[in-house]
Amino acid sequence: MFRQLLQGLAAATPAQCEVCLAWPARPLCAGCSAQFAAPRHRCLRCALALPEGVATCGRCLRAAPPLDACHAAVSYAYPWGGLIARFKFSGQAGWADSFARLLLGADAIRRCVDAADRLVPMPLSAARLAARGFNQAHELAQRLAPAKADARLALRLRETPPQAELDRATRLANVRQAFALEPARAHEVRGRRIVLVDDVMTSGASLHALAGVFRAAGAAHVAAVVIARTEDA
Ligand SMILES: [Zn+2]
Ligand SMILES: [Zn+2]
Repeated sequence: MFRQLLQGLAAATPAQCEVCLAWPARPLCAGCSAQFAAPRHRCLRCALALPEGVATCGRCLRAAPPLDACHAAVSYAYPWGGLIARFKFSGQAGWADSFARLLLGADAIRRCVDAADRLVPMPLSAARLAARGFNQAHELAQRLAPAKADARLALRLRETPPQAELDRATRLANVRQAFALEPARAHEVRGRRIVLVDDVMTSGASLHALAGVFRAAGAAHVAAVVIARTEDA
C-alpha cells in the first residue's frame, strides 16, 4: 500500500529521484548514488565482487571464460532490481540515460567503452522485440557510445526460457546455438574489439554464448558491460 503510494508519487513527479523521492531531483540523486552505487572491486573476467587485491575469482581461474573482461556498475540488489525491471518491462526507455551515466562514471567501464570498436547489445528475438517495443540493451548501448552501438551485427536465433530458476548447466545448454552473426557482416568482426552490453548478468551463460560467436569470427578482444551483476552465481 505504502509502496504503491510511493510509486504513484514517483510517476506523478518524474523529476524526483526514483529511489528516495528527494527533491530537487535527477533520475538518481547524489545521495542514493553514494549509498547504492558505491564501486566495488570485481573479478576482471566475470565482474563477481571480490576482496581488494584479488584479480580473478576461482571459477575464472579454473576455466577461463570467453570474455576477456567483464564490468558491472552495481550488484543486483536493492534498489537496482526494481529499477532495472521498470526500465526493461514498463517501456520507460528514458531510464537508459541514468543507467548509462552510472556506467560511464566508473573509470574502468569508460576505458572499456572508449577502447571498443563496436558495442553490441544483447539481441532479442524478433518476436520478443516486437512484443516489448524496444531492446533495453540497445537503448543502453546507444547512450554509452552512439557511434559504436550496433544492434544489427548479432542475431538471436531463438528465445531461451526464463533463466532465473534454472541451474547453471541447464542455462548453458539453453543458450548454445541461440546466437549468430549477421552472415553478410561477419567479416567485419575480425581483429575488432567488441563490447557486449546487457542490463543484468546472472550466470553469464548468454553473454558467454554470444562472446563465443564473436571469438569464432575472429574478434581480437571481447568484453562485456552490464548494469548489475548477481553475486551468487
Ligand atoms: Zn535519491
Ligand atoms: Zn570471475
